[in-house]
Amino acid sequence: MMNRLYPLRVSSLGEREQFYKNDFRKSLRRINDWFREIFFHPQFIAVDPGSDTGISRDNKRGQRLLIFRADTDMAGLFERIAPEDVYYDRNHYRNPSNVAKRGLFREALERNLATAQELVFDIDAENMNCPAHDKGRVCELCINASQNQAFSLKNYLEAEHSMESRVVFSGRGFHVHVDKRFSAMGFDEREELNNELMKYFAIDPWVSRGRIRLIRMPFSLNALVSRIVVPLTGEERIRVHSSKEIMPSFLERKPYKSAITPG
Ligand SMILES: [Zn+2]
Repeated sequence: MMNRLYPLRVSSLGEREQFYKNDFRKSLRRINDWFREIFFHPQFIAVDPGSDTGISRDNKRGQRLLIFRADTDMAGLFERIAPEDVYYDRNHYRNPSNVAKRGLFREALERNLATAQELVFDIDAENMNCPAHDKGRVCELCINASQNQAFSLKNYLEAEHSMESRVVFSGRGFHVHVDKRFSAMGFDEREELNNELMKYFAIDPWVSRGRIRLIRMPFSLNALVSRIVVPLTGEERIRVHSSKEIMPSFLERKPYKSAITPG
């Protein structure tokens, strides 16, 4: 048996649209289940039309992050915009309309306009000091290394802090989402935990510090690498060039032609 291997590459605008029209729609129930399990349902989502690649449907708006209420028709919205990235806001705001009107998202937690922020740790393959290439790129080697770290972190959080968590593949690394009992942690506690974890894990402290609020939406497309953002059970580690659950269907028509590994 042969495994087909799929390249890490930027998705085209048409492929992004096709993804949101087909693949994403089928995951809507799983998205809701996921939010129910790990998090309060988000109040806002954020869409990046194409700030990294410069590829976007509307060039004037392509560089700007667009914010929407989370109770919108997400599949329809994403199909129209065909975005590069999709995020949700981890903050839980006391008065979401007021925060949106006054544009106070950034300082909401510090000013007590948000009561909580989902605690998430970020382990990026780019921070693995991969011997195979320069910084700024990712490959199977460093993605595997970051995957091992993400699951070790999950085990550590459970053993040392009684924190339940879920690991999510982000496309170029992994996020560890901690259950909502810990969303009310203050800045000092977050900092203390960060400092402890940085002794053992290559976390990017910005994401867990509390001052940035966006995180990739599960089941959305990371269009920088053409991979689906997927929560993992951990029973089986994902393989970035072959695991089915992280492959958008548009790639299935275009696997590598020559790279064949024993199945
Ligand atoms: Zn690498």
